[in-house]
Amino acid sequence: MSKKIQSALISVYYKDGLEPLVRLLHDNGVKLYSTGGTQTFIESLQIPVTAVEELTGYPSIFGGRVKTLHPAVMGGILYRRDDSGDLEQAQQYNIPAIDLVIVDLYPFEETVASGANEADIIEKIDIGGISLIRATAKNFKDTLIVSSRSQYEEVVELLSAKAGATDLEDRRYYAGLAFAVSSHYDGAINRFFTADKEKSDSDLFNFTSLSSQTLRYGENPHQNATYYGDLEGIFDKLHGKELSYNNLVDVDACVNLIDEFEGAQPTFAIIKHTNACGIATAATAKEAYDHALACDPVSAFGGVVITNSKVDLATAEELNKLFMEILIAPQYDEEALDLLKSKKNRILLKRNAVNLPQMMFKTILNGVLVQDKDLSTETASQFTTVTEKSPSENEVTALEFALKVCKHTKSNTIVLAKENQLLASGTGQTSRVDALRQAIDKAKAFGFDLNGAVMASDAFFPFADCVEIAQQAGITAVVQPGGSIRDKDSIAYCNEHGVSMVTTGIRHFKH
Ligand code: 5GP
Repeated sequence: MSKKIQSALISVYYKDGLEPLVRLLHDNGVKLYSTGGTQTFIESLQIPVTAVEELTGYPSIFGGRVKTLHPAVMGGILYRRDDSGDLEQAQQYNIPAIDLVIVDLYPFEETVASGANEADIIEKIDIGGISLIRATAKNFKDTLIVSSRSQYEEVVELLSAKAGATDLEDRRYYAGLAFAVSSHYDGAINRFFTADKEKSDSDLFNFTSLSSQTLRYGENPHQNATYYGDLEGIFDKLHGKELSYNNLVDVDACVNLIDEFEGAQPTFAIIKHTNACGIATAATAKEAYDHALACDPVSAFGGVVITNSKVDLATAEELNKLFMEILIAPQYDEEALDLLKSKKNRILLKRNAVNLPQMMFKTILNGVLVQDKDLSTETASQFTTVTEKSPSENEVTALEFALKVCKHTKSNTIVLAKENQLLASGTGQTSRVDALRQAIDKAKAFGFDLNGAVMASDAFFPFADCVEIAQQAGITAVVQPGGSIRDKDSIAYCNEHGVSMVTTGIRHFKH
């Protein structure tokens, strides 16, 4: 329904850009109300304006904390101009209508960015302004909200074209913008009150206010998809095509896995469908890559590769032989980069040191599940030996390595490793026995000798069957969370067959 604006409340922090709008309203015979500073500005244009104090009967009090928070103002905005009975009440309490509200909020983010002290920042939390915005937006059936100075120009155009009137769809549109403004504003306040860690977490929940990137498609070509976030902050894209939805999912898996090896010797991981099909740590980058590739050169085709070390020419020469979608490294030697760029579509990313959110969420049913990231990494000091035999030093190294990989592999999983190399894993199986069998078969298929290998399990063994199968394949040491009522059966089997077992008390399901 078209509605002619008859009255307006204007309360803006920055007055620039406001003049044409005020003039237009005045020319259309709109009665203007405003707060102190804005009133002075409007009067300086020789345009008549009524102080909001005349409506409220109160001056601006508490250093400006309370200016417009009053039933005469909020009521004039919020009462329904229909037959709800509101109109009679408005008359009863002598509350005049306010059809248009123009607000430009206190510059909270700017004040934080200026390095102001906490007291000054707190004073820049706009209370009345945000209430005016929300109230006017709520009553969009009758009122128009202009919630930021960035909207003045288009509102002038709109009101000029419609002779000072608006249609319902205009008012609803500006109400939508208003709630985006208020949500962004509160988001900024929330970020100020939370520490660095929580900053990125709260960004996650407020993801529609993050920058976004439309992806070519989702997991499959018939699915639309968008990425919300700041990819450029995390990576410099040095070469190659756009990242796809599946690329991004794999890159995330890569980053989480390689972060387990921060500060460790050179490590390379090759990821397929979020699971590591190869990962190894060694004295040099080239050796680490060679060992990672050797785990499963078949799956490595088309994989996403990540390393914690600089990529030198020798390693690049090997990498260049592999068809891979993406390579991620913290640094590249120049010649290495030149060589790797020879494949047009290969995506080369340089990883920057950026704190990632420590929470994760996914949609399920008609809601969202939110949880902390699994940030627990158990090393030797958290291992409890539960068998007569303790693992050797080399086995402990391999157990630590296997456990890190296990944590980042789809459940149910069993990871087999030797020293600092993955031999094979069973991924996303419906039973732990299946996961183990898959891992053993794979390792053998790629020519690995499992004698002296170690095994990590993401969760406890409900029966002794896994340790039995593992021991028969040559495995000599096991790490698992423990906690099954039948732990003693697995432990007894290990004791009978000279296998060592350590428990961690921490489960690492990854569904
Ligand atoms: P003025 O310069 O007109 O005195 O003040 C304009 C500013 O005050 C605007 O940024 C507006 O959002 C804000 N404002 C309006 N009413 C109130 C109120 O009741 N309390 C607070 N804290 N700010 C208000």
